[in-house]
Amino acid sequence: MNPEHGIDRERLRAVVAEIGNTLRFMARSGCRGFDCSPQSLAAVAAWGNPSAERRETLVKIRADLGDCRRCRLAAGRRHIVFGSGNPQARLVFVGEGPGQEEDRQGEPFVGAAGQLLTKIIQAMKLSRADVYICNIIKCRPPGNRNPAPDEIAACSPFLERQIAAIKPRLICALGTFAAQTLLATNAPISKLRGAFYPYRGVRVLPTYHPAFLLRNPERKRDVWEDVQKLMQEMDRGRAEGEKAEGE
Ligand code: URA
Repeated sequence: MNPEHGIDRERLRAVVAEIGNTLRFMARSGCRGFDCSPQSLAAVAAWGNPSAERRETLVKIRADLGDCRRCRLAAGRRHIVFGSGNPQARLVFVGEGPGQEEDRQGEPFVGAAGQLLTKIIQAMKLSRADVYICNIIKCRPPGNRNPAPDEIAACSPFLERQIAAIKPRLICALGTFAAQTLLATNAPISKLRGAFYPYRGVRVLPTYHPAFLLRNPERKRDVWEDVQKLMQEMDRGRAEGEKAEGE
């Protein structure tokens, strides 16, 4: 209890956070009766917590993205696909851009390639809720064409902010566009895959995109090798964390 205000601020914060979660759930369920805009949700989440107003959060980044019209993809999209999963994930998967099903649902990797990604995550003894999943671009290109450089440039600042807010230990770059964009290279994915590269203090491991695996199942063995490297690195991070806590 805070004697100055006569209220328990911790309890209040928990209640406000819960209201935010409920509003987000309602917004996702298509509720129209309340102001469920990202701006409103960000304000609710920050209310009563002055340090939260300064801290970079996914809610704030989503609010800044707003009803984005920064590139031509806005004209043809149904939903902005911001990203989903654990906001404090140690592992982030970055794909290329939403396809038809992702555009329809507003969630990344929920189509056929997404189902394969879910299986890969489960093979790592993780769930989608443990990791964070997002894309280089947040709106579906017409006919699933490749993202254009100016579209990637318009979207990149938001991805960079998402990664900076999550602070993962590892990023798995799925396919050519994710790997080449994050690592600022033109090297082919076949050359990049299976090794770790630095990106703003995070280790990036490129591997083949699940959609490529659906067309080329013989490459699954390569991805499994890459995924095992990710798992070893996750274990190493966990062991380092436990050691540091014990000291
Ligand atoms: N392919 C991607 O790169 N991202 C998605 O979200 C879905 C398919």
